[in-house]
Amino acid sequence: MLRIAIQKSGRLSEESLNLIRECGISFVNSSLKLKTECTNFPLEILFLRDDDIPGYVADGVADIGIVGQNVLVEEGKEELTVEKLGFSKCRLSLAVPKSDEYTSIHDLNGKNIATSYPNLLKAFLDAQGVQAQIHTISGSVEIAPSIGLAEAICDIVSSGSTLISNGLKEVERVFKSEAVLIASPELSPEKRGVLEKLLFRIQAVQRARKAKYILLNSPDDKIEEISRLLPSIKAPTVLPLAEEGWSSLHSVVNEDDFWEIIEKIKAAGAQGILVVPIEKMII
Ligand code: ATP
Ligand code: MG
Repeated sequence: MLRIAIQKSGRLSEESLNLIRECGISFVNSSLKLKTECTNFPLEILFLRDDDIPGYVADGVADIGIVGQNVLVEEGKEELTVEKLGFSKCRLSLAVPKSDEYTSIHDLNGKNIATSYPNLLKAFLDAQGVQAQIHTISGSVEIAPSIGLAEAICDIVSSGSTLISNGLKEVERVFKSEAVLIASPELSPEKRGVLEKLLFRIQAVQRARKAKYILLNSPDDKIEEISRLLPSIKAPTVLPLAEEGWSSLHSVVNEDDFWEIIEKIKAAGAQGILVVPIEKMII
């Protein structure tokens, strides 16, 4: 039985649980329980505060875990990383009051900066040759300037709306983060085997998230040209349509390139283009 630590309640929780479910793993989730055993996979889920997850995995209390890179790197446990998961994307940024004049990072020399991420901030300031007083606080960092605790803050930003509503502006990006899967370096061979199985499923789910299945109709004399525009795992599937002179082409495209490809294949004569999500993808 492999033990995974995930955040009990917060910005990582839902997507962490969704990922486990999308791997075809079932469990009963009650908000009152602190752990639950999965019914069809040798996995036990522990629900913890996110800050505690890297430590528990490093100590072997949990075998694996899901946590934000910001917390992992802040705690100096980056080497536990196994796989980036692509969700809970955010950044750690420096912000100052909107009305402040700000020209460069050197404006922060000698200033007080409030943050929950003193190590990440210090590494960034050191690299830039800036000396500032770092005040570590555990929450509500964004109100620090308005209560006179600090002249600047360094906090997690995703849309930036929290900064704006507190009269702040983002001036420097310190660190980019997303959720990652971490693992204890000392897993038994049995547990490592279960982790490999889980990773195989996670990678299939991840690949599928980025990919779309595309079907289109093509005049037979355009198949070659359109096929060249379509990326695919091997080569596009070509099936004859019931109408003479027409074929159906099937392929897989990356979500990021998707609109550009659609425009090109349309211009090349493709018709009746359908784009559908893929649930799992094993290559
Ligand atoms: P806990 O009670 O478990 O300690 P927390 O309040 O420290 O929770 P959350 O606010 O739930 O933490 O954020 C958890 C993680 O989610 C952060 O460490 C970060 O990696 C990511 N995160 C934070 N804010 C956002 C956001 N606005 N958008 C996306 N991801 C975010
Ligand atoms: Mg926390």
